[in-house]
Amino acid sequence: MAVWNLGSINEDIVYSVPHIPGPGETLAATEKRHYLGGKGANMSVALARSGAQVKHIGALGADGDWIVLRLTEMGVDTRFIARTAQGTGHAVITVDSNGENAITLWPGANREIPLEMLQSALSEARTGDLFVTQNETNMQEEGARIARDMGLSVAYAAAPFDAAATRAMLPHADLLVLNAVEAEQLREATGQGPSDLPVRDVIVTLGARGCDWVRGPDILHFDAIPVTPVDTTGAGDTFTGYLLGGLDRGQPMPQAIGQAIRAAALMVTRKGTADVIPDLLEVQEFRP
Ligand code: ADP
Repeated sequence: MAVWNLGSINEDIVYSVPHIPGPGETLAATEKRHYLGGKGANMSVALARSGAQVKHIGALGADGDWIVLRLTEMGVDTRFIARTAQGTGHAVITVDSNGENAITLWPGANREIPLEMLQSALSEARTGDLFVTQNETNMQEEGARIARDMGLSVAYAAAPFDAAATRAMLPHADLLVLNAVEAEQLREATGQGPSDLPVRDVIVTLGARGCDWVRGPDILHFDAIPVTPVDTTGAGDTFTGYLLGGLDRGQPMPQAIGQAIRAAALMVTRKGTADVIPDLLEVQEFRP
């Protein structure tokens, strides 16, 4: 089956600086690098590397050719990525010599995904396909509604946390993935814990402590694989991509979670994001 990912795509521009500039300060960076990023793109790459057939629904500016090329090389179907006026979404990441960072995010095209693109993408979906989305684009609720009406399962990663978006999405989701901070933010916003939500399956990821699978009153805990973390960026996106990749292949939830935990553990031992998300063979051969 296929996985349809309505998700953000960013260019992450990383400037190395002696210190994070303060108000009114001008500072020359010592190095500039740029990477493919955005939660949606990370998830599509994780899905593709897990072996899933993934179709990305999103938007870029006219400057996004290199991203389409990268995603295509990594096995993502890019036919449903629109080009819009605002330019490609990007994150300006300033990193100082201690590794502290400051990030300015420009959502750009990510918030301009046209309804027609969503509709034309999902018109190719089949019953039993999976639909996934996060909180960095527009059209999430519309996407979830169309997907549900067509008999797709809907997965939702409520990240970055947004109370209004999450409230609107919960009635449409079959599977919700949250990290511990987002679960707490959701509890503050709605008064509901993971067991109280109107969603069949809830996964709460707990960083180095693993994750909980919550189905109504039942909670099953899965330990993480102990590793020495080098960079935890993208751990959650890798986890979710592998989880959905497993479910899409028909794996039962515990098996899909087991593989997601292995993939995320391997990911945190690597520096970087989309470019270093491991493939299925690496995950299977990973001996921590
Ligand atoms: P996010 O990246 O969204 O904040 P988490 O930090 O909860 O999400 O990480 C997602 C998953 O990645 C965890 O459930 C766990 O399986 C794995 N993971 C994260 N940090 C570590 C770590 N230090 N050691 C091993 N696994 C980790």
